[in-house]
Amino acid sequence: MNQTLKQDIETLVRLQKIETEIFRLQSVIEKVEKEKITLASRLREFETALNDEKQNLSEIQQKCTDAENEIKVVDQRIIKSNETLRMVKTNKEYQVLLREVDDNKKRKDILESQLLDFYDLREASEVRVSESEHQFVLLKEQIKAEQLEIDKKTVDDKELLHDLLEQQKEIGQSLDPALMTRFRKISKMNRGQAVAQVRNESCMGCFMNVPPQLCIEVQRANQLISCPQCSRILYHVDE
Ligand SMILES: [Zn+2]
Repeated sequence: MNQTLKQDIETLVRLQKIETEIFRLQSVIEKVEKEKITLASRLREFETALNDEKQNLSEIQQKCTDAENEIKVVDQRIIKSNETLRMVKTNKEYQVLLREVDDNKKRKDILESQLLDFYDLREASEVRVSESEHQFVLLKEQIKAEQLEIDKKTVDDKELLHDLLEQQKEIGQSLDPALMTRFRKISKMNRGQAVAQVRNESCMGCFMNVPPQLCIEVQRANQLISCPQCSRILYHVDE
């Protein structure tokens, strides 16, 4: 048995134990971060809907103002026509002006009826905006609290993860950088598991059979053997 290799394998096994925990913690933290993102997008969706309603309200307000202004203009026209009416000389002029007054009155009726509808729409929209604004404040507070709670829960995990990464760095220093790179690569391929024990002629990483000749080589530990199925670095433990 190659002593250096034996030490390397022991180091790899230690690294793997830490790697498994790192992988677990990273999954937990990632899941939690996703929860935070989901909460934030919920708030954004609500805010978008609120802004749409505000935009709607401002359009209705503009329609009210336009109708009110046009009514004022039509009123002026009616007053002016009535004044002119008193000074006309011919029947024809009189008839024309009467029709003008009549047309303007009809227009005013239509505008006033529209304005009443706009007022109703405005009132309903104002209620919706005010309710949504209130709900938005509540939702914002609730989501902020939930996010804080999530952060609190992951503080310990994050600290532990940091410590484990440091430990791994330290332990890995005794290994050839090329071997460390190999470890990283295989771990990435196999969801955080780069090293696997061979037991009963099976790889404990992928649970596939390892050919007997290869098992003997793993036991001899004269070179690093990878599982032919999953590429994990194999090691043997005397039981
Ligand atoms: Zn395997």
